[in-house]
Parts: sequence; C-alpha cells; structure tokens
Amino acid sequence: MTDPLLDPNPAPEDNDRALRPQALEEFIGQAEARSNLRIFIESARRRGEAMDHVLFHGPPGLGKTTLAQIMARELGVNFRMTSGPVLAKAGDLAAILTNLEARDVLFIDEIHRLNPVVEEVLYPAMEDHALDLVIGEGPSARTVRIDLQPFTLVGATTRLGLLQTPLRDRFGIPTRLQFYTEDELHQIVLRGARLLGCPADDAGAREIAKRARGTPRVAGRLLRRVVDFAVVEGDGRVTQALADNALTRLGVDNVGLDGADRRYLTLIAEHYMGGPVGVETIAAALSESRDALEEVVEPYLLQQGMLQRTPRGRMLGPRAWTHLGLTPPRPEPQ
Ligand code: ADP
Repeated sequence: MTDPLLDPNPAPEDNDRALRPQALEEFIGQAEARSNLRIFIESARRRGEAMDHVLFHGPPGLGKTTLAQIMARELGVNFRMTSGPVLAKAGDLAAILTNLEARDVLFIDEIHRLNPVVEEVLYPAMEDHALDLVIGEGPSARTVRIDLQPFTLVGATTRLGLLQTPLRDRFGIPTRLQFYTEDELHQIVLRGARLLGCPADDAGAREIAKRARGTPRVAGRLLRRVVDFAVVEGDGRVTQALADNALTRLGVDNVGLDGADRRYLTLIAEHYMGGPVGVETIAAALSESRDALEEVVEPYLLQQGMLQRTPRGRMLGPRAWTHLGLTPPRPEPQ
C-alpha cells in the first residue's frame, strides 16, 4: 500500500552508499545519541577493550545501520553485518561468532526476529564471550564451552516491544533514535545534493526536507527523484519551484503524506467518524497487514499529531481533520 517513494524501509535501488555519512562528525542530528556514543567509543579505545553492546531502536531509515558502521570505523575494527531472519540455525550464528576478531562490531538488524534457538546462543556470547556447544544427543550429550574474542554486538530493531526481556537486558547501551527535525533534514539534503553533484539552493532543500517524514532515507530518495527532474526539465539545480513541482507530480503532499496515508486517514474520518477504531479493522479495510501499518504508516502520523493511539483503538488527531479539509463530526477529541 505504501508508496515506494516514501517507504522508510530500504529498497534495492537506493544505493545508499553515496549518501551515507562515514564519521560521527559528518552524522547530522541525533545529538544526544551521538554525544553519548562519542564518549563510549573514546573510552573503549583508550582502554583497548571491546565497547559494550549497543541496541538501537526506532523507526526504519533513521540511521541505525549507519551509526553501527561509523562505530566500527571509529573503533578501528571490522564491521560484520547480518539480520535476525537470516540466522535460521544456531550454527549460523556460531559460525559468525567464531570468525570475529578481537573487539569487532557485529551488527544484527531486525534483532527482534531472531529465532529463539539462535537467541540462546547469543546470551553466553554477549555475557561471557563464550559459545556453549552441545555435542551428541540424548543421555550422552554434553556441553563444550568455546571461548570467543571479545566483541561488540550492535542490535537494531524497529519493534522494541517484541524483544525478549533477557535479550534486552544484555545491552549496556540502549539508544532510541528519534525522527529528525526539518532543520536537520535540511542540512542532510544540502549535503546529499552536494555529493550528488547537483547543487540545491536553501529553499529547494527545505522543500524536500519538509516532505521527508522526519527520515533521512526518505529525504535521500526524494532528493534523487528531484535531481532527475532538475537534470531533465531544469538547469541541473534544485530550486524550491522545481522541488515542489516534482514532488507534487510524484504524489507527495506538502507535509510528506502520500496517497496511502491519505486513504488511511480518510477511512477513519469517513467510515468511523474519526475513531476510535481497532488497527485490525483498519488493516482489513485497507487490505494491508497490521505490521505494515504499525511500522511504516503510523509512526509518522502519530508524530505529526494526525493520529492518536488510545486503549480503544486509533483516533484522528485534530491536525488530520484540518489537513484533509474535513470537519470533525463532534467536538475535537481531547
Ligand atoms: P536504518 O538502519 O535505521 O534503517 P540507515 O542507517 O540504513 O537506517 O540509513 C538510511 C539512509 O539514510 C542511508 O542512506 C543513510 O546514508 C542516510 N542517513 C541516515 N542517517 C543520516 C544522517 N544523520 N545524515 C545523513 N544521512 C543519513
């Protein structure tokens, strides 16, 4: 349902590498997370030890992978990357762990989707840098402990609530990433435009930032599309008029909502008088999975005050009525 242009999940054509910041200095936004990480990295370096395990949580596209790569680079160690759904068997993780060199960073994306059997392997690895292997079967089975090199696990999740408590508790540095402000995205777009060799003026970059849903990945994708228009229909520069025209033609409105968001909001407004209505009902009415709604569509609408989550279901926020140009059927929900 979600417009591929605004989906904060990675797409194969994104070619993220060109725009990815390589050092903590270059990383814009997330000031609190950044300043804390700077200290933890520096301390680990001075002590010559592996940094404590880090858990990044927050919506997709906010820079979890980027920060993990930057950590490895600044620690001067290797970066290994895998993801929860890829690690099907305990042996898959064991193979990766035994290949790590001292103080390496192992990044596990979507760590909430780890198979419980694989998760069991992770506990002693995180806590004691050891691997417990079971040899044999039945009564003669025995456990052999193998020592691992000390390493830093960086876990990333979009769904903190789905993480098992024992796993969550083993991360010494839990870090929540926030949506970016318009000013931060403005800087990100200006930097991206420079890197893509297609200069953006201030107002042009701001027009893209305003519509990027607080998410650098979306900002990068919108920028690339606007650059296409600038090259073909303009003079190769990103101006406000050009960005506005391009994004409107691509169906992205002035606050970054697309057709899917508007369908979601209109459904609640017109069929359920603004709610509350259960998320399962909305998902069924839109032929969409609940997960996609909760992970992709709702976080930005909630952050924008267009949507409220109540114990009885979803309700439109006051801003949604204004944005849709509709009148609420009763006094505005409190
Ligand atoms: P996540 O792992 O949270 O889904 P990524 O780290 O893959 O997100 O980042 C998505 C994209 O956004 C990448 O192309 C990255 O270059 C860009 N990006 C993320 N954070 C920043 C930032 N602070 N400044 C500039 N670009 C960023």
